[in-house]
Amino acid sequence: MTTKKITILGSTGSIGKNTLDVIHQHLNLFEVIALTANNSVDNFVAQCQQWQPRYAVMVDANAAEQCQQRLKTLAPQTEVLSGSEALTQVASLPEVDIVMAAIVGGAGLLPTLAAAKSGKRVLLANKEALVMSGQLFMEAIVQNGAELLPIDSEHNAIFQCMPYTAFQGAGVQALQNTALNSIGVNRILLTASGGPFWNTPLEQLENITPDQACAHPNWKMGRKISVDSATMMNKGLEIIEACWLFATTPDNIEVVLHPQSIIHSLVEYADGSVLAQLGNPDMRTPIAHALTFPERITSGVARLNLIEIAKLEFFEADFSRFPCLRLAYEVMKVGGTATTVLNAANEVAVQAFLEERLPFTQISKIIETALAQTTIVEAKQLDVILQADSDSRILASEIIQKCT
Ligand code: NAD
Ligand code: MG
Repeated sequence: MTTKKITILGSTGSIGKNTLDVIHQHLNLFEVIALTANNSVDNFVAQCQQWQPRYAVMVDANAAEQCQQRLKTLAPQTEVLSGSEALTQVASLPEVDIVMAAIVGGAGLLPTLAAAKSGKRVLLANKEALVMSGQLFMEAIVQNGAELLPIDSEHNAIFQCMPYTAFQGAGVQALQNTALNSIGVNRILLTASGGPFWNTPLEQLENITPDQACAHPNWKMGRKISVDSATMMNKGLEIIEACWLFATTPDNIEVVLHPQSIIHSLVEYADGSVLAQLGNPDMRTPIAHALTFPERITSGVARLNLIEIAKLEFFEADFSRFPCLRLAYEVMKVGGTATTVLNAANEVAVQAFLEERLPFTQISKIIETALAQTTIVEAKQLDVILQADSDSRILASEIIQKCT
């Protein structure tokens, strides 16, 4: 394998750190060209000192200034850039082969899209980008000869369970004009851990604190996605993500609650075969898989011990417990900017919950109210999508203010 040059968008986050961990095990295979972070100076300076990237982007200007001062001696070859345009710049550098898209939320859309437009191998963790702009994003991938590999563990599992011949060793872009049933696929079974509250008595959900919501039983993740897992909006976003990645519709996707998070998802075939991908819940597996696909490298993940696990359980996902899941199915059927509005309202509501300005059980209600008050339009142009995103953020903030 030849050395690949990589940009990591969101390197200080949970996915970013796991990516650097895998790369650290294979220093002969990868060269880190650019790292980016929002505003966490100490973590970012330490990463730049260790990795000596060509470019380091701190979006926040004050943080970038501090970073630059400290890196003068610690990483003298590193050029420090700031502002969100710099994210786009390092996502589309001509010398870069791979872009890990691991910024959380809508802030990741433009740089991730830039990587697609520059024909990179895009490793997609930032599901919000796809939820906001699915059609546009998939078109950018296909039209610019980019390669798209899913990092979200479920989608990475589904990808691994799809018929290899249909992909000819390529990423999901190879499936874009293929009906799943024409390659023998009946449906996708998307597994969900159910988060920390899948069997908590409903009346206790009102008083859930941010720390309780972020204490995921199986995965260690950033706070936004942890809350999404607790409301199961994460699974909702993943249904939408799967529809775009695998060119299918919500009717072909069934969510199955699987509290152990060992089976990461399944694909059911016409002949009755059901293929699953299993592994310990550790994001380094999908990251390693996508970094060198179609070849395999070690990831540092502990071997799966089925005897120790002993039991795999499955339950039905309950829409009355998890209204966010129902909302996600509904908006994907509506299409257009409906998914953009859902994503924006969710981000604002989750932030309000994390800042203890909104009760946990109000998150879904804020999103539903925002959707009801918005006119949905076609989402084929970037400016329309960005406008829907910013309008929905303002609307959701107003709804929160009124109800609290
Ligand atoms: P995180 O909060 O741990 O890290 C987020 C990263 O994005 C940080 O580096 C941060 O500096 C950067 N960032 C945040 N706001 C930014 C902004 N406005 N502009 C630029 N950069 C910004 O999040 P995470 O858990 O690593 O998740 C990252 C993405 O991957 C999310 O979209 C999440 O849904 C997805 N994902 C994560 C996991 C997981 O296990 N953590 C699993 C599947 C998918
Ligand atoms: Mg996932």
